[in-house]
Amino acid sequence: MKILTVVGNRPQFIKAAAVSGLLREHHDEVLVHTGQHHDDSLSRVFFTELGLARPDRELGIAGGTNTSQTARMLAALEPLLGEVEPDAALVYGDTNSTLAGALAAAGSAIPVVHIEAGMRSFDRTMPEELNRVLTDHMCDLLLCASDTAAANLRAESVPGRVEVVGDVMTDVALRRQPAARADVETLSAHGLTAGSYLVLTAHRAGNVDARDRLVALVALVRRLPPPILFPLHPRTRARLEDAGLLGELAGVQGLRMTGPLGYAEFSALLCQARAVLTDSGGVQKEAYLAGVPCVTLRANTEWVETVKAGWNSLVDLDADAALAALERPRPSERPGLYGDGHAAERCVQAIGTL
Ligand code: UDP
Repeated sequence: MKILTVVGNRPQFIKAAAVSGLLREHHDEVLVHTGQHHDDSLSRVFFTELGLARPDRELGIAGGTNTSQTARMLAALEPLLGEVEPDAALVYGDTNSTLAGALAAAGSAIPVVHIEAGMRSFDRTMPEELNRVLTDHMCDLLLCASDTAAANLRAESVPGRVEVVGDVMTDVALRRQPAARADVETLSAHGLTAGSYLVLTAHRAGNVDARDRLVALVALVRRLPPPILFPLHPRTRARLEDAGLLGELAGVQGLRMTGPLGYAEFSALLCQARAVLTDSGGVQKEAYLAGVPCVTLRANTEWVETVKAGWNSLVDLDADAALAALERPRPSERPGLYGDGHAAERCVQAIGTL
C-alpha cells in the first residue's frame, strides 16, 4: 500500500519515529511535514536524533490562527493527495496538521488512520480537543493507546473501526529511558544532581495566551522550591516577552531557563528529576513511565490513568495545590499503562488490514 503520513509538530515527530521505520518494511510511505513546527529545536533535532526519515514533502505552513493555519494546510494537501494518490492517509495526535490531514484525505475519499485516537479532555475550549473529536469522526481506522480511549470512541459512536494497540510514544520512551536514567553527563552539564530538582514545561494556549493565566503561571513558578529547569517552548518565550514577564522569571533564584531540548537530553533530565510540572500530554505520560511524580498545570487531562494511579495531580495554576502535590508521597505501585512498547507493530499490522 502507499500511505501518505502527515506530521507537523514535536510530539508527532516522536510518534512517527516509532511507526515510520516499521511501516516502510511493509508499505511505501510518503512523509509530509506541514511546517507547523519548523525551527530546528522543535523539528530537525527529532529527525536526526530519533532516526525519522527526512520528509518527502515540506509544506512550510506555520503561524496564523488555528483556523487560517488549518485552512492553508487543507489547500496545500488536496492537490498533493491528488498527485500522490495514496491508498490511505495516516495522522497522529491532535494538532492542526492532524485535522487538516484527516479532512483533506476524507474529502478525497481516501481512508484515514488515526494513531492516538479517542483521547479526550472533555474541554472543548482546547483547540486540541476540537481537532481530536473532528478527526476521529472522519477516520476509517482508529488506533487507541488505552481502553479508556476506545470507550470514549464507542460512547461517541464513531463510524470507523476501533482497536486498542497501546501508545507509540510509550514505545520510544520504554526503549530510551534506561539510557536516560543512567545519563549523568547531561545532569552535570546543567549543574543538577539526580532526585533534587524540578523540571517544568508549559506551552498550552490556555496557559500562555491570556495575560492573566500567564501572570498566574509566573506566580506559581516563583513559589516552587529550587532548583528548577524550565526548557521554554518558543510560544511561551514569545508570550512572556510580549507580556514583559521574561525578565521577572530570569531573576528567580534557582530557576534555569533554556531553549527547547532534544529528546535524549530532555529524557535524561525528566527521568532523574524529583518531580515534573507540565501542561504537556506527552510529558505527563513519560513522567509516569519514568516513575517521576507529575504535577499537571491543567484542570483536566486526557491521560486519566496516570491520575487514577496516584502519580499525576491536576492543579491547574493553583500554586498552593502544586506545592501540596509536590509533598504527596509516591504511590507504592505503578501499574503498566499504555502498552508494552510494541504498539507501533500493532499499528502497522492493523493498517495492513485496511
Ligand atoms: N520534549 C523534548 N524537549 C523539550 C520538551 C519536551 O524533547 O524541551 C518532548 C517530550 O519528551 C515529549 C514531547 O516533547 O516526548 C512532548 O511534546 P509537547 O509537550 O510539545 O506536546 P504535547 O505532548 O503536549 O502535545
